[in-house]
Amino acid sequence: MSPQVRIVLKRAALLAIDFVSVCLAPLYWLWGFLPSSKRVCVLAYHKTTPEASARRDEWNVHPERFKHQIALLKRMGFEVMSASQLVKAMDDWGSLPRRVVSITFDDGYHNNFAHAFPALKEAKMPATFFLASAYLDQEAGFPWQRELVEQRPFTRREIGAMRAEGIEFFSHSHSHADFSKMSKSEMKRDLRASVEALKPVIGGGPHAGFACPFGVWGPAADSLIQVLKEENFAWAFLGRWGLVKANSTRYDLPRLTIYGGDGTLVFLSKIIGSFEWLGIVHYAWHRIRSRAAGGD
Ligand SMILES: [Zn+2]
Repeated sequence: MSPQVRIVLKRAALLAIDFVSVCLAPLYWLWGFLPSSKRVCVLAYHKTTPEASARRDEWNVHPERFKHQIALLKRMGFEVMSASQLVKAMDDWGSLPRRVVSITFDDGYHNNFAHAFPALKEAKMPATFFLASAYLDQEAGFPWQRELVEQRPFTRREIGAMRAEGIEFFSHSHSHADFSKMSKSEMKRDLRASVEALKPVIGGGPHAGFACPFGVWGPAADSLIQVLKEENFAWAFLGRWGLVKANSTRYDLPRLTIYGGDGTLVFLSKIIGSFEWLGIVHYAWHRIRSRAAGGD
């Protein structure tokens, strides 16, 4: 299959997924009035730059669109909790408000400091950032993203300014390597390096939470959960899609990524929960792939 055909097919599949989820949204919205249906959407963002060259980058949400999404959350009466606040609140699920979301960011791009942070600060919303700790302060940029000025990693000073406004930071690994290809001892080495690097920057407890780069499924996820427990991490996002429920596993909490092309209807469908069916398909697909790769 030629690359062009693959791109067209991928776009068509994504459009179909968005269409089905948006059509299901009114049903999920009604279902949301039942107390037993309470679920929390944890949004996962990456870049937020207005740079023209990032316009076609699906991982980049334009700052104006981000501001609009923040305003929508406010207008709809959602309470925003940081990831650690949410995990704490899971102990008393019944007392959680009906409409809660959590806002998270992966990697730690300067453009989040420049564009997302001011919007969060103005709206007085907490957020959680997961940092690839080997790259803090590196002017050369992340190894996978060297070409754009705004996509360089956070500086320690920027992190300090955000912490002063109630933003929390945790580990997104040290090297941002693929944990599905690591042995347990390699996972352990990377996590320890991350904790060591983050300790002086974000103070005590940098290893409470973790978000895994790329995601892990099957036996690799089981190994990583074991290692996280041994290294005293308390909760993690491993790459599972979906919404957090009362019985969600603390070490494999689901999130939903917000992509640059997500319009208002898709964003609303994600926070209402009508993309949840996709999480089941996504998880099954990765389990099958990890089994085919020799796991399980
Ligand atoms: Zn990442």
